Amino acid sequence: MRYGMAIDIEACEGCHACSIACKSNNNLPTGVFYHVVTTDGGEYMDTARGTYPDNLYRRYVPMGCQHCVNPSCVEVCPTGASYKREDGIVAIDQDECIGCGTCISACPYDVRTLLETEPAYVVDFPLGDWDAPAHKAHTVEKCTFCANRLERGEVPACMELCPGRARYWGDLDDPNSEISKVIASRQHEQLKPEAGTDPSVYYLK
Ligand code: SF4
Ligand code: SF4
Ligand code: SF4
Repeated sequence: MRYGMAIDIEACEGCHACSIACKSNNNLPTGVFYHVVTTDGGEYMDTARGTYPDNLYRRYVPMGCQHCVNPSCVEVCPTGASYKREDGIVAIDQDECIGCGTCISACPYDVRTLLETEPAYVVDFPLGDWDAPAHKAHTVEKCTFCANRLERGEVPACMELCPGRARYWGDLDDPNSEISKVIASRQHEQLKPEAGTDPSVYYLK
């Protein structure tokens, strides 16, 4: 069993619904995002590709933890707080994390955040799933692949709320899963293959 996700960058509308679903379902504190949608055109979040004025377009790249097969974050974590589960999910044990940030530097995808202060929220009641992960000051956080929802037989929140139906989910080890079939039938890429991390998130072209 290896959970994975495929994201169709042709179908992605850049609406950020996935990022907002993730933010609210996981009751993420102010300043913490597990997922962002950027473009690959340049320096800023929404920079277009191409040449001005007639050949500009945006290619959206939704980004969260890639749940790598060879996770560099796990390799460098001095306490074992970052670890890989048998189902392929790369997780963080908040009680073991000392907030040293070594994993943040080691991750080629810049998807980890250090919660530097006590978590603060814009409303005074928890948002999202009743079993959303706890948030703890001076620890590192990232996408969990919605492990709490998976335990209930549900799919990740970003999957469920994608209006472009740009996401596919399932077991990469099962050739009959939806994700395996779509990867077999479509051109795809993994981000930064040169890093040698072998992500479990695939981008369909
Ligand atoms: Fe670790 Fe980064 Fe890979 Fe996620 S994307 S498993 S944080 S190396
Ligand atoms: Fe490990 Fe936490 Fe240090 Fe990251 S910040 S390397 S998870 S102890
Ligand atoms: Fe957020 Fe869950 Fe999607 Fe990860 S899988 S980006 S935690 S909604």
